[in-house]
Amino acid sequence: LVSREVKPHDTIVRVGNTEIGGSRFSIIGGPCAVESESLAMATAEHVKKAGADIFRGGAFKPRTSPYAFQGLGEEGLKILAKVRETFDMPVVTEVLDLAHFDMVEQYADIVQIGTRNMQNFSLLRRAGESKKSVMLKRGMSATVDEWLMAAEYIMSEGNENIILCERGVRTFVRHSRNTLDFSAIPVVRRESHLPVIIDPSHASGYRDQVLPLARAAAAVGSHGLMVEVHDMPDFAQCDGGQSLYPDQFALMCRQARAICDIF
Ligand code: PEP
Ligand code: MN
Repeated sequence: LVSREVKPHDTIVRVGNTEIGGSRFSIIGGPCAVESESLAMATAEHVKKAGADIFRGGAFKPRTSPYAFQGLGEEGLKILAKVRETFDMPVVTEVLDLAHFDMVEQYADIVQIGTRNMQNFSLLRRAGESKKSVMLKRGMSATVDEWLMAAEYIMSEGNENIILCERGVRTFVRHSRNTLDFSAIPVVRRESHLPVIIDPSHASGYRDQVLPLARAAAAVGSHGLMVEVHDMPDFAQCDGGQSLYPDQFALMCRQARAICDIF
């Protein structure tokens, strides 16, 4: 179902007042995690002003250490709902497990399935039953075929509103957290009709790499970007080192859109 052989034309996913796919270049910005209402609102104001389309923020965080900040849970989801109403922007947030799916889909415009859950087949099937759009991140060790088959699990249950997100794969290098697999983009666009965006934040893990990777994403044919930005990155509870300052995010939006306009 996800194959371009079955459906030759690009899928355009409608989300609130915007859409992802086709010739549109969508920008999603926000903090790694929703940490407090005031921080989320302050960051959302910058994201909106920079001309981004959608706000991101995790309420349930898949942290490597069980002792690290795990997110605010439902309180975080309520803050996201407030951001949507205040700034008229759709919101995307991650669902970590089946137990929280009903709750997350109630608040989110796009339900995100993270890299660690790309082959959580029961979660994928549940996402397929949802009326909400789903963002499926590529597993950190997944091939493009495995990634598309994971999307197939969602679509086979009836949900066609899927956005793919390349977020880098695990390699031997130590200068970045992951290696952004740009070559996956033309392959996915050839094989599938689904929109595919790039997350340069988790791909790199370092703020100074995000802007050049974002420019390259616009050039390689990505349908958009999802980028971490924080009002005060130096005080962030997670992923502060890869979060852009608001003025860097605004610059990134301008440069990425300018590159898109060339093509
Ligand atoms: C995220 O986007 O918040 C996230 C945890 O990303 P990933 O699943 O790609 O690590
Ligand atoms: Mn993060």
